[in-house]
Amino acid sequence: MNYDVIIIGAGPAGLSAAVYAARGELKTAVFDKGIEGGQMNLTDEIENYPGFENVVTGYEMGMKMKAQAEKFGAEFKYEEITAVSLDGYCKIVETANATYCARALIIATGASPRRLNIPGEARLTGRGVSYCAVCDGALYRDKVVAVIGGGDSAVEEAMFLTKFAKKVYLIHRRSELRAEKVIQNRAFANDKIEFIWDTVPNEIEGDPTVQNLKLFNRKENRAFELPVQGVFIYVGILPNNNLFESRLDLDEAGFVKTNELMQTKLPGVYVAGDLRHKPLRQVVTAAADGGIAGWSAEKWIEENDEHFPKGTCDIMKKHMR
Ligand code: NAP
Repeated sequence: MNYDVIIIGAGPAGLSAAVYAARGELKTAVFDKGIEGGQMNLTDEIENYPGFENVVTGYEMGMKMKAQAEKFGAEFKYEEITAVSLDGYCKIVETANATYCARALIIATGASPRRLNIPGEARLTGRGVSYCAVCDGALYRDKVVAVIGGGDSAVEEAMFLTKFAKKVYLIHRRSELRAEKVIQNRAFANDKIEFIWDTVPNEIEGDPTVQNLKLFNRKENRAFELPVQGVFIYVGILPNNNLFESRLDLDEAGFVKTNELMQTKLPGVYVAGDLRHKPLRQVVTAAADGGIAGWSAEKWIEENDEHFPKGTCDIMKKHMR
């Protein structure tokens, strides 16, 4: 199956790229192995996206962006991509079901939650250990939970959890939060949240579900324990780069380097959103990246029209080899 543009990932960057590419009359397909929305689906409230003065859930935002892309003709395919070929004028994408070809590729696979890698974490994931308060928070009504981390996600999700839990401990390895000041101040004013500073988790205990957290205060050199029924881990994100890492320029953390047109070092291959090396990861910056990537892909296709082989995917595949 041939497309002008294939977009991998249906988070805000991929969806915005789809709006721009499809509106530019490119035959556009968006692939995602899950549902549209990406990490927005893990967010209860988006209150800083311009134009939405009333808080909107991440899920609603994803559905709206998808509907807009579909209105302009973008197709959505819920298939996991198993291999890609990024060279030449034909980009090839393979899934378990089929092979797809495109003139340009926009990679918007985003990032995933980082694990702590401490004893008990893997065993108790889904049994009290969670990386998504929006998905699991309601299970902790009147219970005591801990949130690990000091960034925007940890602090926002700690506040979300206070809707259900009777007590939320926010455990941070330093004595100062990394989160935005406005978010910090709301959390400091929330009397269901107790902050535990300079402390790292060493082990999560419980059988069959979480019962206890073993902690270590680094300033006081003191080990202690905290009985909790849930542990929500927000210690940063890791780039979803595994299909592309050997082919693209990465920063030291594995995020892809692009120029301001979202171009990678490979012609016709663009990266947008959280997977990109950038200073600010927000829905609005992902959407902006996506818009630029969709526009850049359109220009690339226009400028290179004479080079693209005509015909079916098979012909395109042969042309590549
Ligand atoms: P983040 O900003 O990278 O923060 C990760 C936090 O986890 C930091 O406080 C870090 O401590 C701590 N941490 C890292 N490794 C740890 C470990 N091994 N043990 C204990 N603590 C550890 O990650 P994030 O909060 O997931 O946010 C990711 C990106 O999305 C950021 O760019 C963020 O601004 C953005 N975001 C924005 C919003 C919003 O605007 N509303 C909401 C969510 C996310 P240190 O502080 O000591 O490094």
